[in-house]
Amino acid sequence: MNVLVINCGSSSLKYQVLNMTNEELLCKGLVERIGMEGSVITHEKIGMDKVKNVVPMENHQDAIKNVLDAVQHPEHGVVKSMDEIGAVGHRVVHAGEKFAYSVYIDDAVIGALEECVELAPLHNTPNLQGIAACQALMPDTPMVGVFDTAFHQTMPPESYLYAIPYEYYKKHGIRRYGFHGTSHKYVAERAADMLGVDMHDLKLITCHLGNGASVSAIKHGRCVDTSMGFTPLEGLVMGTRCGDIDPAIVTYIRQKENLPQGAANEILNKKSGVLGISGVSSDFRDLEEAVKEGNERAALALKIFAQKVRGYIGSYIAEMNGVDAIIFTAGVGENDIGMREMICQNLGNLGIKMDVLKNNVRGKETDFATEDSKVRLLLIPTNEELMIARDTYHIARARKNK
Ligand code: ADP
Repeated sequence: MNVLVINCGSSSLKYQVLNMTNEELLCKGLVERIGMEGSVITHEKIGMDKVKNVVPMENHQDAIKNVLDAVQHPEHGVVKSMDEIGAVGHRVVHAGEKFAYSVYIDDAVIGALEECVELAPLHNTPNLQGIAACQALMPDTPMVGVFDTAFHQTMPPESYLYAIPYEYYKKHGIRRYGFHGTSHKYVAERAADMLGVDMHDLKLITCHLGNGASVSAIKHGRCVDTSMGFTPLEGLVMGTRCGDIDPAIVTYIRQKENLPQGAANEILNKKSGVLGISGVSSDFRDLEEAVKEGNERAALALKIFAQKVRGYIGSYIAEMNGVDAIIFTAGVGENDIGMREMICQNLGNLGIKMDVLKNNVRGKETDFATEDSKVRLLLIPTNEELMIARDTYHIARARKNK
């Protein structure tokens, strides 16, 4: 069965088609500037050059229509007709407490996800638009929703409740939800494979370090804690997000800077993190260049980032009473050799020892702990699309065989 994976943002859309008989990626692409001047689709059939097509796309339905044309294109396409697409998997960011697993999308699921829109308006709104567009164009193809929050639903209340009046949890759903769940789950499963040990016998800490970044504690196959919270703003220092701060700072900055409504939120989400500290960039490559040129604030930003990751690692080791492997993934985790070194150095007392030579690698599954390290250190490139395609395939096949 071929599965189309759709990840719909407000003005962009990423897609892939995978043949799930052998999990082979057939094509992938990106639509940008949906609803704007100069909307464009970039499509790549694996093994061929990318093709770019500037074509007006007023809304998500136009975008999906262009995606379907691209995947059926006589030269660059990968299927002859949409009948060859057995199911569509949709990435949906927020499922609140409603779904702990991926689900077949029916009217009841749409209704439940609509109720979650107010928890993540910037993400869930386009995710739902993408689903509606696909349903309109492929009414007979099964659709599956895969949620960023689902994997974290196993957290116990002592991990997900905030110490604010309990009624706000009951009345408004204010609790820790966690994000990047699809990635944390994927790398945890790969880690178990790499180690040749059942997930249920492992204690893992997964570090998804990209532009957005989060750490999860996974005990015996279940997520027991994660660093992102009610929104993806909490936890680690990120590219442009502040992560954990004293909440009193928000009111204080608002007063001192005389900020209009919403401005503090914008500052903490878009102008903080390593960008805010360094004043240089949110991209770790730029920061490392700046450090080479002697920029002290860039160096400080990297140190603060590393310290925060180390703090969460220590905290989760205490929470789980140990750890078997720490996994690094996403843009920074997969590629930033220096940052992995900053995070992993001087942790020998916790049984964590990094092999500097083995760490000298990018984007490839590697165990970079020393032979005698009690804890394995694993670099595992994430693959959220494959995870979405797997869930979609299993759910669609189970329905077909019913
Ligand atoms: P997201 O999906 O959250 O946008 P990614 O996981 O793609 O983010 O990570 C993007 C980030 O990864 C970049 O902003 C950059 O900081 C970092 N990155 C990518 N490649 C490298 C590299 N070679 N060295 C250091 N950092 C890198």
